[in-house]
Amino acid sequence: MAFDPIRSLSAARHEFGEHGGVNMSIEASTTYTVMDAEVMPEIFQGRIGPAAQHESSGGCYLYARHFNPTVYVLGRYISAIEGTEAGYACASGMSAISASIMQLCQPGDEVVSSNTIYGGSFALLKEYLPAHAGVTTRFVDITDLDAVERAITDRTRVLYTETMSNPTLTVSDIPALAKIAHERGVRLVVDNTFTPLIVSPATHGADIVVHSVTKFISGASDIIAGAICSTTEFLNELMDLHTGSLMLLGPTMDPRTAFELSLRLPHLPLRMKEHSRRAHEFARRLHDLGLTVHYPGLHEHPSHQTLTRIMNEGFGYGGMIALDTGSRQTAFELMEYLQNEEQFGFMAVSLGYFDTLMSCPSASTSSELSDEDLRAAGISPGLVRLSIGYTGDLEDRWAQLERGLRRVGLLRG
Ligand SMILES: *Cc1c(COP(=O)(O)O)cnc(C)c1O
Repeated sequence: MAFDPIRSLSAARHEFGEHGGVNMSIEASTTYTVMDAEVMPEIFQGRIGPAAQHESSGGCYLYARHFNPTVYVLGRYISAIEGTEAGYACASGMSAISASIMQLCQPGDEVVSSNTIYGGSFALLKEYLPAHAGVTTRFVDITDLDAVERAITDRTRVLYTETMSNPTLTVSDIPALAKIAHERGVRLVVDNTFTPLIVSPATHGADIVVHSVTKFISGASDIIAGAICSTTEFLNELMDLHTGSLMLLGPTMDPRTAFELSLRLPHLPLRMKEHSRRAHEFARRLHDLGLTVHYPGLHEHPSHQTLTRIMNEGFGYGGMIALDTGSRQTAFELMEYLQNEEQFGFMAVSLGYFDTLMSCPSASTSSELSDEDLRAAGISPGLVRLSIGYTGDLEDRWAQLERGLRRVGLLRG
């Protein structure tokens, strides 16, 4: 039967507040008492720890850089929508990614990664990890499964990709990648930032799912946060007092932040549906006007079949669109007009905000790539990335966009 992330989340959401509140309490303590001195060494040796409903590990907490109850509950909610056994929230998407990869690799080990990933993740794999951890990465076109197989060696520990990647919205074939990885004893790590609820990569074989919670899950562009979803075993490895990268590198989420984010998960399904509905409508209309638009919901998009095959039902094809305006100058003019004259959205990087965000990848998030790498990744100079928001009336917004297209000469008449 198909995975239903809404049902899974509502089953996980029965954490009441201290006084029977409908929301959980904020557990703002950095340290925790034990009633019995014998318990302390048990916690230190990892024999007892926090307890989820389905576990019986004692419900004992130690120190808030280790597990904190409020952060732990948020992690369980996010893992519920990902269909994983366990999850934990941390300070940022980058900390979720770096802690996961550092946990899985030792000096001399290798990563095989998609060549079209978030700029920070690319820099981590290309520059930081070789220099500081002796972990090197081979970058491949993730849609070329033969190339992925060829890149894996005896030293490969991690196959890394994003479910949907910037800015051409290419979708990874998660089941095929999981099969390749598992045949070679490699773990598949998937960044699902662009597609929460839309795709649940672990239900297709991903071993570890990471999120920049900063984006759609938060939805308000006010909080930097991340999450790691996987098995209880992997979570305990990350939190090990002697060898765990979450415990020892310490990218801890504050419980007040975890509490705020926990209140946004119940309406994440409504938000994702509306982001997707509007993005799909705009993409269809732009396409019908004869413009070059990338959106995986369109039959013409190279990833349409793949996403249709792996998506959960009812959340659409996502809130991101990329429109090719032909030149960087046209891209800049269009964005300036739409922001400054029409209040259509904001010229800003990032995504998943309730208002529309517009950026030009070749001049911003992907500007570290050379012209040749830009071409190889399908990033033309005039490409505008839009994270479609849901404020205002859809037809009013479309009228604003149409006026912008006319103003810069992409539409006649
Ligand atoms: C923003 C982003 C990140 C980094 O997340 P932060 O929360 O900013 O640390 C990682 N991956 C993707 C796909 C992103 O969009």
